[in-house]
Amino acid sequence: AKALGRNSYSFFEPAMDERLQSRRRTETDLASALEDGEFELFYQPFVNVIQQTISGFEALIRWRHPQRGQISPAEFIPIAEEVGQIAPIGLWVLETACRQAMHWPSPLSVSVNLSPVQFREATLFADVRRILKETGLPPGRLQLEITESVLLHDTESVLAVLRGFRKLGIRISMDDFGTGYSSLGYLSRFPFDKVKIDQSFVRDLAKRENLAVVRAVIGLSKAMGIGVIAEGVETAEQRDLLLAESCDEMQGYYFSKPRPVTEVAAFLEAFNAA
Ligand code: C2E
Ligand code: CA
Ligand code: CA
Ligand code: CA
Repeated sequence: AKALGRNSYSFFEPAMDERLQSRRRTETDLASALEDGEFELFYQPFVNVIQQTISGFEALIRWRHPQRGQISPAEFIPIAEEVGQIAPIGLWVLETACRQAMHWPSPLSVSVNLSPVQFREATLFADVRRILKETGLPPGRLQLEITESVLLHDTESVLAVLRGFRKLGIRISMDDFGTGYSSLGYLSRFPFDKVKIDQSFVRDLAKRENLAVVRAVIGLSKAMGIGVIAEGVETAEQRDLLLAESCDEMQGYYFSKPRPVTEVAAFLEAFNAA
């Protein structure tokens, strides 16, 4: 049985091995990526479609690996979370985003994704406050995006940190809403300023159940005075369906892909001229 097991296993070994090696390599390379300056932030605008205005940009990290080219955050963020690298990377993102947003016209905000793992750091609140002070960005121009999963553990201490952020004037968005375990009830129990409707619902709005979710989220958010933004808007049809549901704020390739910080000023100029 042992021999058979070994034989059948070896059939899969090369592929397994490659995956494992690639993963190990990502882990080792992550450890030095920060000090080697391999990370960069891209920015994607939030568009108010009715007012034809931009309210801010979401910061999205990019890893330019010297040998492997650009690695997606969807690939390396979960690994960074596992190997304990997300805390320093997350602080670099915050610091860089706040510093870069200081160059933007005044009311524009910057939105930063926070990993649930970052909430395990006892210093998170103090770090955020320090970074705001050091960069000079007014707290009202910083938004933090968290996912519902952050509320699954240590709910009370996470809530205390979130309340602290809001007291400073930082706004909190719930990202990927509708994809996790949360119910609409979360919206009333936790101090959010804005809900981001996940792109999986936006993708196929012609599906009745997706439209129903979107409608319910918009209805409840409005009733509670919480802002709503739809992400992943790729087509004029999606834009129009969302507008018909009174969702005015959107984000997605239809308006702009995430772009390097060097293109933000030109984008704003072109948008305002249009
Ligand atoms: P997310 O926060 O939900 O970000 C939205 C993702 O959808 C981004 O992918 C964005 O580029 C992409 N996207 C935007 N518009 C469209 C569209 O119209 N169609 C489609 N198909 N996609 C669109 P990205 O940049 O690859 O980031 C993936 C995820 O990685 C993010 O999802 C977020 O969870 C995580 N992430 C990115 N940057 C950071 C960061 O600085 N810190 C942390 N903790 N996580 C980050
Ligand atoms: Ca996000
Ligand atoms: Ca999202
Ligand atoms: Ca997402």
